Amino acid sequence: MAYSGWRIIREALTGNAGWAPVWRDPAPRDAYDIVIIGGGGHGLATAYYLAREHGLKNIAVVEKGYIGGGNVGRNTTIVRANYFLPGNSEFYSHSLKLWEGLETELNYNVMHSQRGLINLFHSDGQRDAFARRGNAMANQGDDAVLLDREGVRAHLPYLDFDNVRFPVYGGLLHPRGGTARHDAVAWGYARGADRRGVDLIQNCEVTGIDIEGGKVTGVQTSRGGIKASKVGIVVAGRSGQVAAMAGMRLPIESHVLQAFVTEGLKPCIDHVVSFGMGHFYISQSDKGGLVFGGDLDFYASYAARGNLPMKEHVMEAAMTLMPMIGKARVLRSWGGIMDMTPDGSPIIDKTPVEGLYIDCGWCYGGFKAVPGSGFAFAHLIAQDRPHDSAARLRMDRFAKGRGLMDEEGTGAQHNLH
Ligand SMILES: Cc1cc2nc3c(=O)[nH]c(=O)nc-3n(C[C@H](O)[C@H](O)[C@H](O)COP(=O)(O)OP(=O)(O)OC[C@H]3O[C@@H](n4cnc5c(N)ncnc54)[C@H](O)[C@@H]3O)c2cc1C
Repeated sequence: MAYSGWRIIREALTGNAGWAPVWRDPAPRDAYDIVIIGGGGHGLATAYYLAREHGLKNIAVVEKGYIGGGNVGRNTTIVRANYFLPGNSEFYSHSLKLWEGLETELNYNVMHSQRGLINLFHSDGQRDAFARRGNAMANQGDDAVLLDREGVRAHLPYLDFDNVRFPVYGGLLHPRGGTARHDAVAWGYARGADRRGVDLIQNCEVTGIDIEGGKVTGVQTSRGGIKASKVGIVVAGRSGQVAAMAGMRLPIESHVLQAFVTEGLKPCIDHVVSFGMGHFYISQSDKGGLVFGGDLDFYASYAARGNLPMKEHVMEAAMTLMPMIGKARVLRSWGGIMDMTPDGSPIIDKTPVEGLYIDCGWCYGGFKAVPGSGFAFAHLIAQDRPHDSAARLRMDRFAKGRGLMDEEGTGAQHNLH
Protein backbone atom coordinates (compact mmCIF):
# COMPACT_ATOMS: atom_id res chain seq x y z
CA MET A 1 0.00 0.00 0.00
CA ALA A 2 1.49 3.34 -1.05
CA TYR A 3 0.96 6.31 1.26
CA SER A 4 -0.28 9.59 -0.18
CA GLY A 5 -2.42 12.59 0.69
CA TRP A 6 -5.26 11.11 -1.37
CA ARG A 7 -5.02 7.89 0.57
CA ILE A 8 -5.37 9.75 3.88
CA ILE A 9 -8.46 11.60 2.63
CA ARG A 10 -10.02 8.38 1.34
CA GLU A 11 -9.36 6.56 4.63
CA ALA A 12 -10.72 9.50 6.62
CA LEU A 13 -13.97 9.30 4.64
CA THR A 14 -14.27 5.51 4.98
CA GLY A 15 -13.66 5.06 8.70
CA ASN A 16 -9.93 4.31 8.41
CA ALA A 17 -10.84 0.70 7.72
CA GLY A 18 -8.36 0.18 4.87
CA TRP A 19 -5.02 0.53 6.67
CA ALA A 20 -3.01 -2.68 6.76
CA PRO A 21 -0.22 -3.52 9.25
CA VAL A 22 2.98 -1.80 8.17
CA TRP A 23 4.95 -5.06 8.22
CA ARG A 24 4.12 -8.76 8.60
CA ASP A 25 4.88 -10.74 11.77
CA PRO A 26 6.37 -13.97 10.38
CA ALA A 27 7.62 -16.96 12.40
CA PRO A 28 11.30 -17.74 11.75
CA ARG A 29 11.96 -20.24 8.97
CA ASP A 30 14.60 -22.98 9.30
CA ALA A 31 17.01 -21.33 6.88
CA TYR A 32 17.74 -18.05 5.09
CA ASP A 33 20.55 -16.93 2.80
CA ILE A 34 21.35 -14.03 5.13
CA VAL A 35 20.49 -13.41 8.78
CA ILE A 36 20.92 -9.92 10.19
CA ILE A 37 21.16 -9.90 13.99
CA GLY A 38 19.56 -6.71 15.39
CA GLY A 39 16.46 -4.85 14.24
CA GLY A 40 17.68 -1.33 15.03
CA GLY A 41 18.12 1.38 12.44
CA HIS A 42 21.33 -0.13 11.03
CA GLY A 43 20.03 -3.71 10.83
CA LEU A 44 16.79 -2.67 9.12
CA ALA A 45 18.58 -0.38 6.68
CA THR A 46 21.03 -3.18 5.87
CA ALA A 47 18.21 -5.59 5.08
CA TYR A 48 16.45 -2.94 3.02
CA TYR A 49 19.51 -2.18 0.87
CA LEU A 50 20.36 -5.88 0.50
CA ALA A 51 16.96 -6.31 -1.09
CA ARG A 52 16.79 -3.05 -3.02
CA GLU A 53 20.37 -2.59 -4.20
CA HIS A 54 21.43 -6.20 -4.58
CA GLY A 55 18.13 -7.92 -5.40
CA LEU A 56 18.49 -10.43 -2.53
CA LYS A 57 15.26 -11.73 -1.05
CA ASN A 58 15.85 -14.62 1.31
CA ILE A 59 16.77 -12.49 4.34
CA ALA A 60 15.71 -12.38 8.00
CA VAL A 61 16.27 -9.64 10.56
CA VAL A 62 16.26 -11.21 14.01
CA GLU A 63 15.44 -8.78 16.83
CA LYS A 64 15.39 -9.73 20.49
CA GLY A 65 12.86 -7.05 21.45
CA TYR A 66 10.64 -4.97 19.19
CA ILE A 67 11.47 -2.85 16.16
CA GLY A 68 12.54 0.61 17.30
CA GLY A 69 13.05 -0.33 20.96
CA GLY A 70 16.84 0.13 20.92
CA ASN A 71 18.97 3.20 20.42
CA VAL A 72 17.29 4.02 17.13
CA GLY A 73 14.27 5.13 19.18
CA ARG A 74 16.26 6.66 22.04
CA ASN A 75 18.54 9.23 20.45
CA THR A 76 18.37 13.02 20.21
CA THR A 77 17.72 12.69 16.44
CA ILE A 78 20.58 14.84 15.13
CA VAL A 79 21.58 14.29 11.51
CA ARG A 80 24.75 15.95 10.18
CA ALA A 81 27.85 15.54 8.01
CA ASN A 82 30.43 17.76 9.70
CA TYR A 83 33.34 15.44 10.44
CA PHE A 84 36.95 16.53 10.22
CA LEU A 85 39.09 13.57 9.19
CA PRO A 86 39.04 11.34 6.08
CA GLY A 87 37.29 8.08 6.79
CA ASN A 88 34.38 9.63 8.61
CA SER A 89 34.08 12.64 6.26
CA GLU A 90 33.23 10.72 3.11
CA PHE A 91 31.12 8.21 5.00
CA TYR A 92 28.85 10.77 6.68
CA SER A 93 28.74 12.87 3.54
CA HIS A 94 27.37 9.88 1.64
CA SER A 95 24.94 9.13 4.46
CA LEU A 96 23.55 12.69 4.42
CA LYS A 97 22.96 12.45 0.67
CA LEU A 98 20.95 9.28 1.26
CA TRP A 99 18.94 11.09 3.97
CA GLU A 100 18.06 13.80 1.50
CA GLY A 101 16.12 11.41 -0.76
CA LEU A 102 14.95 9.02 1.93
CA GLU A 103 11.32 10.00 2.40
CA THR A 104 10.55 9.79 -1.31
CA GLU A 105 12.44 6.55 -1.63
CA LEU A 106 10.75 4.88 1.35
CA ASN A 107 7.35 6.52 0.69
CA TYR A 108 7.41 7.27 4.41
CA ASN A 109 7.51 10.54 6.33
CA VAL A 110 10.58 10.40 8.57
CA MET A 111 10.25 14.16 9.27
CA HIS A 112 13.77 14.89 8.09
CA SER A 113 14.23 18.58 8.83
CA GLN A 114 17.37 20.33 7.58
CA ARG A 115 17.00 23.22 9.99
CA GLY A 116 20.74 23.90 10.30
CA LEU A 117 23.18 22.95 13.02
CA ILE A 118 25.42 25.47 14.81
CA ASN A 119 28.52 24.39 16.77
CA LEU A 120 29.46 27.27 19.06
CA PHE A 121 33.00 28.34 19.88
CA HIS A 122 34.17 30.30 22.88
CA SER A 123 37.87 31.06 22.35
CA ASP A 124 40.29 32.01 19.57
CA GLY A 125 41.76 28.52 19.60
CA GLN A 126 38.35 26.96 19.13
CA ARG A 127 37.63 29.36 16.29
CA ASP A 128 40.77 28.15 14.52
CA ALA A 129 39.79 24.53 15.04
CA PHE A 130 36.30 25.12 13.67
CA ALA A 131 37.66 27.08 10.69
CA ARG A 132 39.81 24.05 9.85
CA ARG A 133 36.88 21.73 10.29
CA GLY A 134 34.67 23.93 8.09
CA ASN A 135 37.33 23.90 5.36
CA ALA A 136 37.58 20.11 5.60
CA MET A 137 33.80 19.87 5.26
CA ALA A 138 33.83 22.16 2.22
CA ASN A 139 36.61 20.09 0.64
CA GLN A 140 34.45 17.02 1.11
CA GLY A 141 31.64 18.81 -0.76
CA ASP A 142 29.52 19.54 2.29
CA ASP A 143 28.34 22.90 3.52
CA ALA A 144 29.90 24.99 6.29
CA VAL A 145 29.65 28.69 7.17
CA LEU A 146 31.85 30.29 9.83
CA LEU A 147 29.76 32.78 11.80
CA ASP A 148 31.14 35.58 13.95
CA ARG A 149 29.47 36.57 17.20
CA GLU A 150 26.90 38.83 15.50
CA GLY A 151 26.25 36.14 12.91
CA VAL A 152 25.38 33.72 15.71
CA ARG A 153 23.26 36.35 17.47
CA ALA A 154 21.15 36.77 14.31
CA HIS A 155 20.29 33.05 14.46
CA LEU A 156 20.26 32.40 18.22
CA PRO A 157 19.38 35.64 20.05
CA TYR A 158 18.44 33.78 23.24
CA LEU A 159 21.99 32.64 24.12
CA ASP A 160 23.93 34.18 27.03
CA PHE A 161 26.56 35.83 24.81
CA ASP A 162 28.40 37.57 27.65
CA ASN A 163 28.71 34.69 30.06
CA VAL A 164 31.87 35.58 31.98
CA ARG A 165 33.39 32.11 31.77
CA PHE A 166 32.27 31.07 28.31
CA PRO A 167 31.41 34.10 26.13
CA VAL A 168 30.17 33.15 22.66
CA TYR A 169 32.80 34.04 20.04
CA GLY A 170 30.97 32.59 17.04
CA GLY A 171 29.83 29.32 15.52
CA LEU A 172 30.20 26.91 12.63
CA LEU A 173 26.89 26.66 10.79
CA HIS A 174 26.15 23.45 8.88
CA PRO A 175 22.98 24.43 6.98
CA ARG A 176 22.13 20.89 5.79
CA GLY A 177 22.36 19.49 9.32
CA GLY A 178 19.16 18.95 11.28
CA THR A 179 16.96 16.28 12.77
CA ALA A 180 14.61 13.42 11.82
CA ARG A 181 11.89 11.59 13.70
CA HIS A 182 13.93 8.65 14.98
CA ASP A 183 11.40 5.86 15.31
CA ALA A 184 9.83 6.79 11.97
CA VAL A 185 13.21 6.00 10.43
CA ALA A 186 13.07 2.49 11.91
CA TRP A 187 9.45 2.03 10.81
CA GLY A 188 10.14 3.37 7.31
CA TYR A 189 13.06 1.00 6.72
CA ALA A 190 11.12 -1.88 8.32
CA ARG A 191 8.23 -1.28 5.95
CA GLY A 192 10.55 -0.96 2.96
CA ALA A 193 12.37 -4.20 3.82
CA ASP A 194 9.15 -6.10 4.51
CA ARG A 195 7.69 -4.99 1.18
CA ARG A 196 10.75 -6.48 -0.52
CA GLY A 197 10.22 -9.85 1.15
CA VAL A 198 12.53 -9.56 4.19
CA ASP A 199 11.23 -11.40 7.27
CA LEU A 200 11.37 -9.16 10.36
CA ILE A 201 11.33 -11.50 13.33
CA GLN A 202 10.71 -9.74 16.65
CA ASN A 203 10.99 -11.18 20.17
CA CYS A 204 13.71 -13.53 18.96
CA GLU A 205 17.05 -13.27 20.76
CA VAL A 206 20.21 -14.66 19.19
CA THR A 207 21.89 -16.80 21.83
CA GLY A 208 24.66 -18.43 19.79
CA ILE A 209 26.47 -18.27 16.46
CA ASP A 210 27.11 -21.58 14.70
CA ILE A 211 30.54 -21.97 13.12
CA GLU A 212 31.91 -25.06 11.36
CA GLY A 213 35.41 -25.27 9.90
CA GLY A 214 35.92 -21.51 10.21
CA LYS A 215 32.64 -20.74 8.37
CA VAL A 216 29.40 -19.45 9.79
CA THR A 217 26.46 -21.84 9.33
CA GLY A 218 23.68 -20.11 11.24
CA VAL A 219 22.48 -18.78 14.57
CA GLN A 220 20.81 -20.17 17.66
CA THR A 221 17.86 -18.13 18.90
CA SER A 222 15.27 -18.15 21.66
CA ARG A 223 12.89 -19.43 18.94
CA GLY A 224 15.15 -22.20 17.61
CA GLY A 225 18.10 -22.56 15.26
CA ILE A 226 18.22 -20.75 11.91
CA LYS A 227 20.67 -21.79 9.18
CA ALA A 228 22.38 -19.13 7.08
CA SER A 229 25.53 -18.93 4.98
CA LYS A 230 25.96 -15.23 5.78
CA VAL A 231 25.31 -13.52 9.12
CA GLY A 232 25.62 -9.81 9.93
CA ILE A 233 26.01 -8.58 13.52
CA VAL A 234 24.42 -5.10 13.94
CA VAL A 235 23.51 -4.87 17.62
CA ALA A 236 24.93 -1.48 18.72
CA GLY A 237 25.44 -1.50 22.51
CA ARG A 238 25.39 -5.31 22.63
CA SER A 239 28.13 -5.73 20.01
CA GLY A 240 30.70 -7.04 22.50
CA GLN A 241 28.32 -9.67 23.86
CA VAL A 242 27.14 -10.95 20.47
CA ALA A 243 30.65 -10.95 18.97
CA ALA A 244 31.77 -13.04 21.95
CA MET A 245 29.36 -15.74 20.73
CA ALA A 246 31.72 -16.11 17.76
CA GLY A 247 34.81 -16.04 19.98
CA MET A 248 35.71 -12.43 19.19
CA ARG A 249 36.81 -9.71 21.59
CA LEU A 250 36.05 -6.27 20.12
CA PRO A 251 37.85 -2.97 20.81
CA ILE A 252 34.58 -1.69 22.29
CA GLU A 253 33.26 -0.63 25.68
CA SER A 254 29.53 -0.18 26.26
CA HIS A 255 28.57 3.03 28.08
CA VAL A 256 25.33 4.81 28.94
CA LEU A 257 24.26 8.03 27.21
CA GLN A 258 21.24 9.92 28.51
CA ALA A 259 18.76 12.24 26.80
CA PHE A 260 16.08 14.61 28.11
CA VAL A 261 12.87 16.20 26.83
CA THR A 262 10.82 19.07 28.26
CA GLU A 263 7.11 19.77 28.12
CA GLY A 264 5.87 21.05 24.74
CA LEU A 265 6.58 24.74 24.18
CA LYS A 266 5.81 27.20 21.40
CA PRO A 267 8.53 27.23 18.71
CA CYS A 268 11.58 28.93 20.23
CA ILE A 269 14.67 27.00 19.03
CA ASP A 270 14.86 26.83 15.24
CA HIS A 271 18.23 25.05 14.87
CA VAL A 272 20.26 22.29 16.41
CA VAL A 273 22.68 24.06 18.78
CA SER A 274 25.82 22.58 20.28
CA PHE A 275 27.73 24.19 23.19
CA GLY A 276 31.51 24.35 22.71
CA MET A 277 32.59 24.44 26.35
CA GLY A 278 30.55 21.64 27.84
CA HIS A 279 28.83 18.63 26.42
CA PHE A 280 25.35 19.94 25.63
CA TYR A 281 23.28 19.97 22.41
CA ILE A 282 19.65 20.86 21.87
CA SER A 283 16.86 21.08 19.33
CA GLN A 284 13.09 21.43 19.50
CA SER A 285 10.89 18.57 18.37
CA ASP A 286 7.86 19.04 16.14
CA LYS A 287 5.70 18.41 19.21
CA GLY A 288 7.37 21.37 20.93
CA GLY A 289 9.54 19.53 23.47
CA LEU A 290 13.13 20.70 23.87
CA VAL A 291 15.23 17.59 23.21
CA PHE A 292 18.75 17.70 24.63
CA GLY A 293 21.66 15.63 25.80
CA GLY A 294 25.21 15.72 27.05
CA ASP A 295 28.13 13.40 27.62
CA LEU A 296 28.41 9.71 28.44
CA ASP A 297 27.93 8.59 32.03
CA PHE A 298 31.56 7.37 31.82
CA TYR A 299 31.33 3.92 33.32
CA ALA A 300 30.86 0.71 31.40
CA SER A 301 27.29 -0.56 31.69
CA TYR A 302 24.49 -2.41 29.89
CA ALA A 303 21.76 -0.52 31.78
CA ALA A 304 19.60 1.63 29.52
CA ARG A 305 19.26 4.32 32.18
CA GLY A 306 21.64 6.90 33.59
CA ASN A 307 22.74 8.46 36.86
CA LEU A 308 22.12 11.80 38.56
CA PRO A 309 25.63 13.36 38.34
CA MET A 310 25.44 13.48 34.53
CA LYS A 311 21.92 14.91 34.69
CA GLU A 312 23.26 17.70 36.90
CA HIS A 313 26.17 18.30 34.52
CA VAL A 314 23.86 18.56 31.49
CA MET A 315 21.46 20.94 33.28
CA GLU A 316 24.39 23.15 34.36
CA ALA A 317 25.66 23.37 30.79
CA ALA A 318 22.14 24.17 29.56
CA MET A 319 21.73 26.98 32.11
CA THR A 320 25.16 28.38 31.25
CA LEU A 321 24.37 28.61 27.57
CA MET A 322 20.70 29.58 27.56
CA PRO A 323 19.40 30.62 30.98
CA MET A 324 15.83 30.80 29.60
CA ILE A 325 15.75 27.00 29.64
CA GLY A 326 15.43 27.10 33.45
CA LYS A 327 11.75 27.92 33.01
CA ALA A 328 11.01 24.72 31.08
CA ARG A 329 9.95 21.59 32.94
CA VAL A 330 11.72 18.36 32.09
CA LEU A 331 9.17 15.65 31.28
CA ARG A 332 11.34 12.59 30.77
CA SER A 333 14.89 11.34 30.60
CA TRP A 334 16.20 7.99 29.47
CA GLY A 335 19.41 6.21 28.51
CA GLY A 336 20.78 4.06 25.73
CA ILE A 337 23.77 1.73 25.49
CA MET A 338 26.60 3.10 23.35
CA ASP A 339 29.18 0.89 21.61
CA MET A 340 32.26 3.08 22.14
CA THR A 341 35.46 2.49 20.16
CA PRO A 342 38.79 4.07 21.18
CA ASP A 343 38.66 6.60 18.32
CA GLY A 344 34.92 7.20 18.53
CA SER A 345 34.47 5.92 14.97
CA PRO A 346 32.67 2.89 13.58
CA ILE A 347 33.63 -0.51 12.18
CA ILE A 348 32.03 -2.05 9.07
CA ASP A 349 34.09 -5.09 8.27
CA LYS A 350 34.43 -8.81 7.69
CA THR A 351 35.43 -10.93 10.68
CA PRO A 352 37.97 -13.78 10.81
CA VAL A 353 34.99 -16.17 10.48
CA GLU A 354 34.00 -16.67 6.83
CA GLY A 355 30.49 -15.37 6.13
CA LEU A 356 30.30 -13.43 9.42
CA TYR A 357 30.28 -9.62 9.13
CA ILE A 358 30.12 -6.89 11.74
CA ASP A 359 28.80 -3.32 11.82
CA CYS A 360 29.37 -1.62 15.18
CA GLY A 361 31.18 1.11 17.12
CA TRP A 362 28.62 3.83 16.37
CA CYS A 363 29.22 5.45 19.73
CA TYR A 364 26.76 8.30 20.24
CA GLY A 365 26.61 9.29 16.59
CA GLY A 366 25.04 6.36 14.80
CA PHE A 367 21.57 7.69 14.10
CA LYS A 368 22.71 9.98 11.29
CA ALA A 369 24.70 7.02 9.97
CA VAL A 370 21.66 4.75 9.53
CA PRO A 371 21.26 5.13 5.72
CA GLY A 372 25.02 5.19 5.04
CA SER A 373 25.74 2.24 7.31
CA GLY A 374 22.90 0.14 5.94
CA PHE A 375 24.03 0.91 2.39
CA ALA A 376 27.70 0.11 3.03
CA PHE A 377 27.07 -2.99 5.18
CA ALA A 378 24.68 -4.41 2.57
CA HIS A 379 27.36 -3.83 -0.07
CA LEU A 380 29.98 -5.63 2.04
CA ILE A 381 27.71 -8.61 2.74
CA ALA A 382 26.48 -8.93 -0.84
CA GLN A 383 29.79 -8.35 -2.64
CA ASP A 384 32.40 -9.32 -0.04
CA ARG A 385 34.25 -6.05 -0.55
CA PRO A 386 33.78 -2.69 1.18
CA HIS A 387 31.80 0.13 -0.37
CA ASP A 388 34.00 3.17 -1.20
CA SER A 389 32.27 5.34 1.42
CA ALA A 390 33.23 2.89 4.20
CA ALA A 391 36.59 1.73 2.88
CA ARG A 392 38.47 3.03 5.96
CA LEU A 393 36.12 1.67 8.62
CA ARG A 394 38.35 -1.37 9.17
CA MET A 395 38.69 -3.22 12.45
CA ASP A 396 42.47 -3.71 12.14
CA ARG A 397 43.15 0.02 12.62
CA PHE A 398 43.07 -0.61 16.37
CA ALA A 399 45.70 -3.35 16.15
CA LYS A 400 47.96 -1.40 13.77
CA GLY A 401 47.40 2.07 15.23
CA ARG A 402 47.20 3.45 11.67
CA GLY A 403 44.09 4.96 10.09
CA LEU A 404 42.49 6.01 13.35
CA MET A 405 39.98 8.79 12.62
CA ASP A 406 38.30 10.47 15.53
CA GLU A 407 35.67 13.10 14.80
CA GLU A 408 37.61 16.28 15.53
CA GLY A 409 41.27 15.31 15.28
CA THR A 410 41.73 15.15 19.06
CA GLY A 411 43.38 11.73 19.02
CA ALA A 412 42.36 8.18 19.75
CA GLN A 413 41.89 8.15 23.48
CA HIS A 414 38.87 6.65 25.21
CA ASN A 415 37.96 9.56 27.46
CA LEU A 416 37.96 12.02 24.55
CA HIS A 417 35.06 10.40 22.68
C1 LIG B 1 20.53 9.23 24.35
C2 LIG B 1 21.10 9.02 22.99
C3 LIG B 1 21.26 10.10 22.13
C4 LIG B 1 21.80 9.91 20.86
N1 LIG B 1 21.82 10.97 20.00
C5 LIG B 1 22.22 10.79 18.72
C6 LIG B 1 22.11 11.85 17.79
O1 LIG B 1 21.59 12.92 18.11
N2 LIG B 1 22.56 11.64 16.53
C7 LIG B 1 23.11 10.46 16.16
O2 LIG B 1 23.55 10.36 15.02
N3 LIG B 1 23.19 9.41 17.01
C8 LIG B 1 22.74 9.54 18.28
N4 LIG B 1 22.76 8.49 19.16
C9 LIG B 1 23.37 7.21 18.74
C10 LIG B 1 22.46 6.34 17.91
O3 LIG B 1 21.17 6.29 18.45
C11 LIG B 1 23.07 4.94 17.82
O4 LIG B 1 24.43 5.01 17.45
C12 LIG B 1 22.35 4.06 16.79
O5 LIG B 1 20.97 4.13 16.94
C13 LIG B 1 22.85 2.62 16.94
O6 LIG B 1 22.43 1.81 15.88
P1 LIG B 1 21.01 1.02 15.84
O7 LIG B 1 19.93 2.00 15.52
O8 LIG B 1 21.12 -0.09 14.90
O9 LIG B 1 20.90 0.51 17.33
P2 LIG B 1 19.71 -0.18 18.12
O10 LIG B 1 18.41 0.48 17.81
O11 LIG B 1 20.13 -0.27 19.55
O12 LIG B 1 19.68 -1.61 17.44
C14 LIG B 1 20.37 -2.75 17.90
C15 LIG B 1 19.34 -3.84 18.10
O13 LIG B 1 19.99 -5.07 18.33
C16 LIG B 1 19.13 -5.82 19.17
N5 LIG B 1 19.89 -6.90 19.79
C17 LIG B 1 20.88 -6.82 20.72
N6 LIG B 1 21.31 -8.04 21.07
C18 LIG B 1 20.59 -8.94 20.34
C19 LIG B 1 20.56 -10.34 20.25
N7 LIG B 1 21.37 -11.11 21.00
N8 LIG B 1 19.66 -10.93 19.41
C20 LIG B 1 18.84 -10.17 18.64
N9 LIG B 1 18.82 -8.82 18.70
C21 LIG B 1 19.68 -8.22 19.53
C22 LIG B 1 18.64 -4.79 20.18
O14 LIG B 1 17.47 -5.22 20.85
C23 LIG B 1 18.43 -3.57 19.30
O15 LIG B 1 17.09 -3.42 18.86
C24 LIG B 1 22.24 8.63 20.45
C25 LIG B 1 22.05 7.54 21.31
C26 LIG B 1 21.47 7.73 22.55
C27 LIG B 1 21.22 6.55 23.44
